[in-house]
Amino acid sequence: VLRIGHRLVRDDRVTTHSALVSRAFGAEAIYMTGVDISVRQTLESVGKRWGGQFRVELINDWKAFARQWKNEGGRVVHLTMYGTALSSGISKLNCKSNAGRNVLVIIGAEKVPREAYDLADYNISVGNQPHSEIAALAVFLDRLFSGAELSKKFGGAALRIVPSPRGKKVREAPRKSIN
Ligand code: SAM
Repeated sequence: VLRIGHRLVRDDRVTTHSALVSRAFGAEAIYMTGVDISVRQTLESVGKRWGGQFRVELINDWKAFARQWKNEGGRVVHLTMYGTALSSGISKLNCKSNAGRNVLVIIGAEKVPREAYDLADYNISVGNQPHSEIAALAVFLDRLFSGAELSKKFGGAALRIVPSPRGKKVREAPRKSIN
């Protein structure tokens, strides 16, 4: 996931939630511009407790980053209310010519620069109404992974939830012995 833009203070929670949703819905990493390292620290602490290898990377030049992604054979998707329908976008990503390619999903915080629309291989909408990058990302990733991401295993977790119809059941992982 590549998140473009961040309005200091106003966007703090949304930025953290973009990262949490990326992690929980199967993305490997989120690349962000204009944020301080506190988002990375929050996600590191989540990773220690709940496992997995999710990465938060701070970048300066998102255009150069997206171009390089494409040069390395990856596909770039930009989520925007102005794009083409989600279902047709997912079908295109599932085409034979896209098999095995890494997908970079661009989401915006505020108005997204024109270059994002041009750089993207696919501009995809999650409905044509304005809503939120967090909702758009969750729905997109869920369709991309056909729901399989919700049962993804997060290795090395200190804590694991035992799904329960009522209340909270959490197991601690056994401590590793030193010798
Ligand atoms: N009017 C703004 C624009 O698109 O330039 C809306 C910004 S919105 C607060 C932040 C981000 O949410 C957008 O950049 C886009 O990534 C995502 N988003 C909002 N509505 C969407 C929709 N219907 N489909 C896909 N993405 C959406």
